[in-house]
Amino acid sequence: MRIGIDKDICIGAGQCALTAPDVFTQDDDGYSTLRPGREDGGGSPLVREAARACPVGAITAEETEDAGALPDAR
Ligand code: SF4
Repeated sequence: MRIGIDKDICIGAGQCALTAPDVFTQDDDGYSTLRPGREDGGGSPLVREAARACPVGAITAEETEDAGALPDAR
């Protein structure tokens, strides 16, 4: 998964970090950032929830070709 955070429109509401705390955190200025090593979402199903929860739509989550994070998907 490829996760994007548009820091130009992020208002630091923190909904992403509340929704998917394993993936998102807030930097010293309160803006959203990805936790180290979680740039691909770590297979967390909460990433899409976090994207929906963001009040300004700053988060994008795209599946990538090697979406191997779902081994039991069938
Ligand atoms: S929920 Fe959206 S506005 Fe709030 S910190 Fe996360 S990316 Fe920024």
